[in-house]
Formats: sequence, C-alpha cells, structure tokens
Amino acid sequence: MKVIVTGGCGFIGTNVVLKLLEHDQVEAVVVIDKMTYASNDKLMELAYFHTNLFIIQDDIVNIEKYNKLHDFEFCIHMAAESHVDKSLNELDNFIHTNVKGTYEVAKWCFKNDIKLIHFSTDEVYGHLEFEDGDRFQEERHPKPRNPYAVSKLFAEQMIDLANIEYHEKGKYLILRPSNNFGEYQDKTKFIPVILNSIKNNKKIPVYGEGKNEREWLYVGDTADIVTQLVTEEHNSINYFYLEDDRKYLNLGSGVDLSNVELIKNICEILDTDADNHIEFVEDPRGNMHDLKYAVDSFKLSCIYDTNKIKSNFKSNLKRTVEWFQSQK
Ligand code: NAD
Repeated sequence: MKVIVTGGCGFIGTNVVLKLLEHDQVEAVVVIDKMTYASNDKLMELAYFHTNLFIIQDDIVNIEKYNKLHDFEFCIHMAAESHVDKSLNELDNFIHTNVKGTYEVAKWCFKNDIKLIHFSTDEVYGHLEFEDGDRFQEERHPKPRNPYAVSKLFAEQMIDLANIEYHEKGKYLILRPSNNFGEYQDKTKFIPVILNSIKNNKKIPVYGEGKNEREWLYVGDTADIVTQLVTEEHNSINYFYLEDDRKYLNLGSGVDLSNVELIKNICEILDTDADNHIEFVEDPRGNMHDLKYAVDSFKLSCIYDTNKIKSNFKSNLKRTVEWFQSQK
C-alpha cells in the first residue's frame, strides 16, 4: 500500500511516518510539507537512506499538480497551522492552510479516489466546565472557542463541501485527537517549554492559576492507531466511513490533567520540586481560554486497546522526558 502524508515533517506526522515505514504492508510513503517553523529535519535525513520515503517540499494548496500520485490508496492529512496562541495574531495563515488547504486536499483525494484520513482536533467541541464529569462524544454539536479551533471546524466542513462536489463519493474519516505529547514536538509547545525551563533554571510560565485541564495522549499511540487504520487486514476504516454518523472518531487517553498536575508529573520524573519552578503569568486569552477538554473514546475502544493507552501514560511521559534530555 502507498500512503501520502501531508504535514508529515511536523510533530505527529514524523511519528506517524516512522511507524508506517516499520510496517511490511507499506510500500511507499510520500510526504508533502511546506517545512514551516513547526517542521523538523528527521524525515529529510531519513529520506537519504529509505528508498520508500519521498519528501516533497510544497504548500498543500498546490496539491492538484501532483497527479502522478493518483495510484496511492490513502492520504493522511495533517498539514496545519496548529499553535493556538499564534492563531490570535496570524489568522491569515490559519485560513490559508487549515481551511483552503484542506479543501484542496479533499477535492484532490476524491477526484483520484484516494481515502482521506483527516486530522481535526478535540478543540472543535469547545470546552467543558471544570466540575463537568461529561466527555465530548462524536455526536456533540461543535462550538469552538478560539481561532485555531474555528479554522479546524471550517476544515471539516470543507471536506463535506468537496464531498458534495464529488457527488458524495468521497471516502473519509475525521479524527479528533486530544493533546498529543511525545518525541519531535516543537519547542514552543507546553511539554518542551516545561522541560526547557527546568533545564535552563528558568521559571515555567503557567497561564492563570494553571487549572486548565487537558487530556494527554502519547503520540506513539496516535501513530499506532493511524497505522492500524490504513493497514489492518480487515480494514477497520471501512466501518467508519461507510455511514454518515461514523465519520468522526475521537482519539483520547482518559488521562485528564491540569497544567499544574502535568508539571508535577514531569517534576516527579526529574526528581525536583514543582513549586520551585512554576511562575503564574497572565493568560493572553483571559476568560476565553478553554477550561477543560475531555473526549469520550468509546468508538475508539472498539478498534484499539484504550486501556493500554491509559496504563502506559506514565512510562510514555518518562520516555518523552528522556528523549528531550537526549536532544542537543
Ligand atoms: P505541527 O504544527 O507540529 O506540524 C504541522 C506540519 O504541517 C509542519 O510540518 C508544517 O511545516 C506543515 N505545514 C503547515 N502549513 C503547511 C502548508 N500550507 N502546506 C504544507 N505543509 C504545511 O502539527 P502537529 O502537532 O503535528 O499536528 C498535526 C495535525 O493534528 C494538525 O492538523 C493538528 O491540527 C492536529 N492535532 C494536533 C494535536 C496535538 O496535540 N499536536 C491535537 C489534536 C489535533
């Protein structure tokens, strides 16, 4: 099988491509990536040695011109502007890549009969109150609250639009993952910032009172799930995209932690006292900062061992900390 991965040089993309290349059913992987600030060189270096990995440096809005890739079976669409804070000031890039780019990718996939696995986000649902024991199910009406999340909801709708243009023949699955952590994450994201601050003896900037809660999913699990979706003998993806109400799939871990709790977990691994490292700073989003995200992963549990994701959380966090420590 041959797979196209847009945004494959980003954080999740790198992990997904590395996992795909390990699988004996995967004959070739082509990455299309603009190589923005969020990309890393790992796959570029690897492409010199791997005869089945090809990297095209281009903007996904130009995907139409790659008609030679028409015999590929899957496109995993991850290219995006993904930093919420940047979306507060650089909205044009988010509209260009997340909205227009996704529309172009979807049209191209449907025209060439390529199955599309689109990475959306749990942020499209909006947020929950702290005391809310509820979790977002896929059927929940989306109510995004920041520009990034709105652009990702538009992206989902661009896929529906392209599908209408192609007479509802498009085959696609929309993933809504929770916060990923792990190897190759950009240094501007929260866990690398925590580790860098501790390493450089600086305070960790924590917005507000650090109570905001997120669901933390190890990127190795995300990569496993995606690899399973495209390679599995019985093709579990068929189950999803055949029915309209199954087009969405939450990817969660069941591990809900406030920002302060996450820092405490990391400090425990590093054997240092979290209280010495935290500095509470003003939240640029103020009251608009989403309080809590938590998804219901029942659908996911039908195809993947979600208990394993939860029970391996601490060891995967440790593995992540050690990986960042091993980097220059
Ligand atoms: P990332 O920001 O680390 O990587 C994005 C990649 O897309 C980069 O390599 C960048 O160069 C590339 N890119 C950006 N604009 C492009 C364009 N116009 N054309 C081609 N390539 C372009 O993102 P990530 O954290 O790896 O996230 C991957 C996907 O998963 C995104 O769609 C994101 O919205 C979604 N997601 C991420 C998380 C998370 O916790 N990281 C959670 C939920 C959903």
